[in-house]
Amino acid sequence: MRFGPTGISVTPAERYESAAGNRWPMSIMPAPGELLSSWLHRLAYANGIPPHYFGALLEAPGENWSARLDRALPGRILQLLEEHTHIPLEDITALTNAPDPLAVLRLPLRASPQQSCAPKTQATWLQFCPACLAEDETPYFRRDWRLATRVSCFRHGCRLRDRCPSCGQGLAPFSQKRLVPHQNCAWCGAALCKRTRPATNGVRRLERLIDDLLRLQASGHRMAEGRSLPDLLGSACFQFSRRPMSIARLSHRDRYQLFRQLTDGQSTPFGTRRSSAIIYWKRVAQVAPAWGGLVTSFSDAVLPRPKAGPCSNTAGPNLADLVQAAARLDQQRQAL
Ligand SMILES: [Zn+2]
Ligand SMILES: [Zn+2]
Repeated sequence: MRFGPTGISVTPAERYESAAGNRWPMSIMPAPGELLSSWLHRLAYANGIPPHYFGALLEAPGENWSARLDRALPGRILQLLEEHTHIPLEDITALTNAPDPLAVLRLPLRASPQQSCAPKTQATWLQFCPACLAEDETPYFRRDWRLATRVSCFRHGCRLRDRCPSCGQGLAPFSQKRLVPHQNCAWCGAALCKRTRPATNGVRRLERLIDDLLRLQASGHRMAEGRSLPDLLGSACFQFSRRPMSIARLSHRDRYQLFRQLTDGQSTPFGTRRSSAIIYWKRVAQVAPAWGGLVTSFSDAVLPRPKAGPCSNTAGPNLADLVQAAARLDQQRQAL
């Protein structure tokens, strides 16, 4: 609108559609290791739509619609997201947990967010590191945080949480009906970034070993006789709350306690029945203290030495990368 000597002239602005096509006003780039549901909640928030209504816009069924999409993203919704964000299909697909060779070790997703009223002894569908959320430029939830075998943060060394530190309920960002970022509890609105205590070194070593072994499994290495490591770990039953439960059914508090008992040599809450799964858990716990040294020796043998510089105290070398490096060296030798 302009004021001129002859009066007011009005020039219609370019229509949004011709200026931006079918893109939504804000396109959010996924963060490294981000879980699809986390990216969807951030996308919804950036475009001014509370996640609950964004699920309806995508015609995604269920109250916990975004967490269900983590496990299976229909082609129709994938296409729609690509059309409106212009983020490549493969980049969006990579945010999901599908296909999932570690499915048996994922925390359970219940049909309704009423799961959040579950007692503290029950597993919730997602954990998080409060320090990561506090440090992120834009806080986001990682895919690894859905694994029951994860109890601490490899970056910060602190324990994860699976509940809001204020109201004690599980996370339900998909149910949020107000325009509030997902790092705030959908039930009480409190910030989720309240720090946790550090995990013990023993727990961290055991967790790191299991993570390395699972990475090997996910990258195609198989145990002897074609056994599945996730199935073996996931089938062991532990006695908590007077009931035998697999690790994926335990709350973070009980899983952390289990790891401590395994690493401190305390009596472990295994039931009376001894199975190959129980024996394997104990064996892994026995090996864990020596694991870091073994990986470092292997790393020194197959990888070039890093240049002198400031040391990082973050996660150590990745075993799957090391095995791949060793395989490449072997191939080069054979080619010569
Ligand atoms: Zn962290
Ligand atoms: Zn809360």
